[in-house]
Amino acid sequence: MIDLNSLTISSAREALKARKFSARELMEASIQTIKDKDSDIHAFLEVFEDALGLADEADKKIKEGVDLPLLGVPIALKDNMLVSGHKVSAGSKILENFTAPIDSTAVRKLKDAGAIIIGRTNMDEFAMGSSTENSSYGPTKNPIDPTRVPGGSSGGSAAAVASGMVIGALGSDTGGSIRQPAAFCGLVGLKPTYGRVSRSGLIAYGSSLDQIGPLVKTVSDAEILYDVLKGQDPMDSTTIGDQSYPKKKDFKKIIGVPRSFVESEGVSPEIKKNFQETEKRFRDLGYEVRDIELEHLRFSLSVYYIVALAESSSNLARFDGVKYGLHVDGDNGIDDYFKTRGAGFGQEVRRRIILGTYVLSSGYYDEYYNTALKVRKLITDEFRKVFMEVDLILTPTTPTSAWKMGEKSTSPLEMYLEDIFTVPANTTGCPAISLPSGHEEINQIKLPLGIELTADLGREDNLLKAGKEFLGEK
Ligand code: GLN
Repeated sequence: MIDLNSLTISSAREALKARKFSARELMEASIQTIKDKDSDIHAFLEVFEDALGLADEADKKIKEGVDLPLLGVPIALKDNMLVSGHKVSAGSKILENFTAPIDSTAVRKLKDAGAIIIGRTNMDEFAMGSSTENSSYGPTKNPIDPTRVPGGSSGGSAAAVASGMVIGALGSDTGGSIRQPAAFCGLVGLKPTYGRVSRSGLIAYGSSLDQIGPLVKTVSDAEILYDVLKGQDPMDSTTIGDQSYPKKKDFKKIIGVPRSFVESEGVSPEIKKNFQETEKRFRDLGYEVRDIELEHLRFSLSVYYIVALAESSSNLARFDGVKYGLHVDGDNGIDDYFKTRGAGFGQEVRRRIILGTYVLSSGYYDEYYNTALKVRKLITDEFRKVFMEVDLILTPTTPTSAWKMGEKSTSPLEMYLEDIFTVPANTTGCPAISLPSGHEEINQIKLPLGIELTADLGREDNLLKAGKEFLGEK
């Protein structure tokens, strides 16, 4: 059987083209690995029954000489992207039996590029969380150490790739949900610039923050998927073309480090040590690494947890027991609504709807939501300025390595603090990538660590260039 651990998307494509193996054999290897490993890991919520048949169709096309960037490659999807005719639940009971009526734009683009959607992966309910423990269908485990979390909310996608069940997956990132699980599972995770990838058919969390992106093993694979996914889409008016980004300036290999932010308390000594090594590695690669000041950066977490929750309370109002999914009968319409939402939403989702509604309520709107928007603007302006001086901003991806399952689930605030380094890219709309940067050894297990590069709006090219150099890819 093909060992998926030794394959990347690009090497699989080469092998498929050279007929070293068929798309069917590749799909069978994926499905078999899922059968062998997923009862322990629980990365998948469903493997699609049509996947093998679609692999045969891909084989036919390969024989006819068709060449597409993802032809015959199985891709796993986080369970919040619509695939026509298949179930999609956002990890929630409220959508347990909901079948998608259309393809999301991301899925349509994958299909057009020849990819085969193998199934849907586990996630924190409605993408709210950093550990995949908030799924209504049970947690996913970290394949490197199954006593630990894989990160979240795209933990199923990360675990699926890291355990060799698939060679590529998509996640969504509202405040770090692609990058943080990538860091915890030793993968590359890319969050594109806000507006780069269409959100049409992505179940919304925070609409001004959400982006779809790849979870893969190499920067080259991230690039392949990113190239397929990006582009303006009439179905999502927030997608914009290249002409709308700041004028491109030359890549001068200058990296800025927001020093006080990186050294703040709560960042573990191992992460700090790994960060120093990372800085050195970049210097050895010919980069200039300099300290930068981002005065309002420390407020990004608060801004994020106001804006994201406000937007989610509004987005989730549509789950009313009438339009989609679960319906619980009450005494009247209003009672139906309460009963349906009470039964369908998990604890964290309810907490966030309540908090989000609170910050939007008339008495508190100015104090919280409006203030958060103003600070968001300050942070964004600071980033604009800093990117006149540097090409990239470097931070760790996470303040700690993967924690033990259950360790933070009783303290939401502790869990929120884990997002400190990832949320700035979403609040500012900037693209960011997490790269594997080393390990922390605990009880003879090497837990992966990640570093994060952030670039100016529309400058994914800089992330990919630096990422490839850092990982020694061509
Ligand atoms: N952990 C963050 C949250 O819970 C980010 C989640 C995400 O990016 N979807 O909101």
